[in-house]
Amino acid sequence: MNKLVSIVVPVYNERDNVQLLAKAVHNIFENLPYRYNIIFVDDGSADDTLDILKELSASHSNMRYVSFSRNFGHQAALKAGLDMAEGDCVISMDGDMQHPPELIPLLLEKWEAGYNVVYTVRKEDSALPYVKRKTSSAFYSILNGLSDIEIEKGTADFRLLDKTVVGVLRNLHEYELFFRGLVKWAGFKQIAIEYTPAQRNAGVSKYTYKKMVRFALQGFTSFSNRPLYAATYIGFTFALLSLLYIPYVIFSFLFEHPISGWASIIVTIAFFGGLQLLILGIIGIYIGKLFTQSKQRPVYIVKESNLS
Ligand code: UDP
Ligand code: MG
Repeated sequence: MNKLVSIVVPVYNERDNVQLLAKAVHNIFENLPYRYNIIFVDDGSADDTLDILKELSASHSNMRYVSFSRNFGHQAALKAGLDMAEGDCVISMDGDMQHPPELIPLLLEKWEAGYNVVYTVRKEDSALPYVKRKTSSAFYSILNGLSDIEIEKGTADFRLLDKTVVGVLRNLHEYELFFRGLVKWAGFKQIAIEYTPAQRNAGVSKYTYKKMVRFALQGFTSFSNRPLYAATYIGFTFALLSLLYIPYVIFSFLFEHPISGWASIIVTIAFFGGLQLLILGIIGIYIGKLFTQSKQRPVYIVKESNLS
């Protein structure tokens, strides 16, 4: 019997894309010696994506769908897909045609060559908005600087995972998921392949800048506690520097009588006020993580599905 490949596709308001993607994947597998199924994870779409998925599943035996009770986010949808996929390997890809299905044979080829993880890296591409490219690049530089894992710039959530790796990821109980990091962290034999992202087929991007900043902060704080050490180092440095100030103050008090210093006081207060709030905020983020994690709520809630 041929090996089974599960394709996991998180979709949120992608009504005009799901059919096209299902067709494209179908065409690819027609020429490949594998069985496949597609698991669409409907992340609480507000449009009729779910109805379209149901129709697709009714007419195609290899279509599966899972629908969330509300929008839980892209990473939660990926987790659900991994939890439910029964394939010998799982390929995750976006539902908007930005991850070219033509790359699937290459992913499978590398898998057959013995790699447990085949992930993709976006080629620097001028089709992406300038700000998105630059912020993404800065994000990876900072993340790699802060943490012990090394993630290539432009790593996408388009990847093949062998079922052993899927098993590892399934057993993680992190509330704030950041798969690009988790996959690297998991280890095993990994290889990267480059791809040129296509334009989104229909609809709009669901990653607003606000969501991206949040996602980035989750990434940093999930894989490093170095920001917490920063406060100690900065505090220590300034405490030492302030000691140098004492002889100066005594000297000017004794010999230069009026100590004028309104400007320097204001600047110092403002600077340290800002610094303290920043550091308090960093500590706050970690405490928030502990808080959400300790509640042990599920990462997603399934409303309905045609998976057993
Ligand atoms: N997505 C999701 N839940 C969300 C946001 C996005 O399942 O809350 C899906 C979306 O339907 C798409 C994929 O995640 O299939 C990537 O999202 P998008 O294309 O909006 O992000 P971008 O490519 O602009 O970074
Ligand atoms: Mg997209």
